[in-house]
Amino acid sequence: MSYSAFRIFKEAITGHKGWKPVWRKPEPQLNYDIIIVGGGGHGLATAHYLASKFDKKRIAVLEKGWIGGGNVGRNTTIIRSNYLLNDNEGFYEFSLKLWEGLEQDVNYNAMVSQRGVLNLYHSDPQRDAYVRRGNAMILNGADAKLLKADAVRSLYPFLNFDDARFPIMGGLLQPRGGTVRHDAVAWGYAHAADKRGVDIIENCEVTGFDIQNGCCVGVETSRGYIGASKIGVAVAGNSSRVMAMAGIRLPIESHVLQAFVSEGLKPLLDGVITYGAGHFYVSQSDKGGLVFGGDIDGYNTYAQRGNLPVVEDVCEGGMSLMPMIGKARILRMWGGNVDMSMDGSPIIDKTDIKGLYFNGGWCYGGFKATPASGYSFAHLLATDTPHDTAKAYRMDRFTRGLMIDEKGMGAQPNLH
Ligand SMILES: Cc1cc2nc3c(=O)[nH]c(=O)nc-3n(C[C@H](O)[C@H](O)[C@H](O)COP(=O)(O)OP(=O)(O)OC[C@H]3O[C@@H](n4cnc5c(N)ncnc54)[C@H](O)[C@@H]3O)c2cc1C
Repeated sequence: MSYSAFRIFKEAITGHKGWKPVWRKPEPQLNYDIIIVGGGGHGLATAHYLASKFDKKRIAVLEKGWIGGGNVGRNTTIIRSNYLLNDNEGFYEFSLKLWEGLEQDVNYNAMVSQRGVLNLYHSDPQRDAYVRRGNAMILNGADAKLLKADAVRSLYPFLNFDDARFPIMGGLLQPRGGTVRHDAVAWGYAHAADKRGVDIIENCEVTGFDIQNGCCVGVETSRGYIGASKIGVAVAGNSSRVMAMAGIRLPIESHVLQAFVSEGLKPLLDGVITYGAGHFYVSQSDKGGLVFGGDIDGYNTYAQRGNLPVVEDVCEGGMSLMPMIGKARILRMWGGNVDMSMDGSPIIDKTDIKGLYFNGGWCYGGFKATPASGYSFAHLLATDTPHDTAKAYRMDRFTRGLMIDEKGMGAQPNLH
């Protein structure tokens, strides 16, 4: 089915009896041309672009749980393209452009809201670093504006400007950044891919790879064996576990990242703000809750739940940036499993096993990458060549010394 204003009107006057499931529930077939392992945002976007832009058929997405149950439905919904390094900035700007046309492309309301992302600075060197970053963004076709303290104060007078350990001196604003309703992204891509004949198979865990003479020809799953000519893995926080089944050891650690939502408040914050003197970012949802988060929990885990020291750290960041947040109660919090690569940048590449492709290492910033990641992975799977914007995301960059170290922090996931 397709969605339109006319459809909403028709359903409203006919008792909402005509709505159909957003995607089918097909039984797995014995064989496909292309299998995507992982029905998160990246896997579903890959399937959608394979079918819609590369005219591929006989595609299946295998998801061990339910659609939207992974990080695609657990993140803090922020999208932006404010990177410094050329290898990243071109890719994330491509992603932001795809976000801008996403709802029309997939015929689904994902509540793409370009409400602006403001990174605050608190010292002269930090301002200089943001000037450099803003210029790099503009050179790559993105938008960036440097705001002084007065301009930030007129936007958000409630922030802690003067009576703070790190007074706010200004900010780097990307007006085209913003938020997108996270689970609607999964539903939208699933809807569009399903419409083009992609089989989305839930409750189907991949438990092994069938590798014969260096070539991957199928997968073992909890619902039986499925053969395929090409297999793309996009399982985010489970990357190292899944690729280990093919004998591949990745330069990735899995960590938990937590998110928090306050009780509903009156409209207060119409954009996204990130604190430059600590790890804290916040926006306000359409229901009024402040949606915020901070750093990863600093230990390796595959669990989707976090621990109290990080809760304390995030709340401290919030209190020092906007002290009145202390009066709001936290309504909900949860954790997601993020795949931290050793330089903080992702991998979209073939593997040494013919027919097996990998997409991962998104750290805690892969939601904004969803459209470009799906497009680039589809490009790689369809043509066996990397997409122009994703050429640097090679697996062997760690052995060749070509790290894309955006934050200059080295091989330390807890610092990215
Ligand atoms: C709390 C939190 C906040 C975040 N905030 C932001 C943000 O504001 N902005 C941003 O850009 N990014 C953010 N991120 C990161 C972003 O959510 C992830 O990088 C991105 O969603 C990962 O890609 P995905 O959507 O494909 O992952 P997922 O949705 O996790 O998809 C992977 C899927 O693979 C499935 N799977 C795993 N193993 C198997 C198997 N063996 N067989 C079959 N299926 C399998 C899983 O069940 C899962 O559904 C955040 C992450 C978290 C946890």
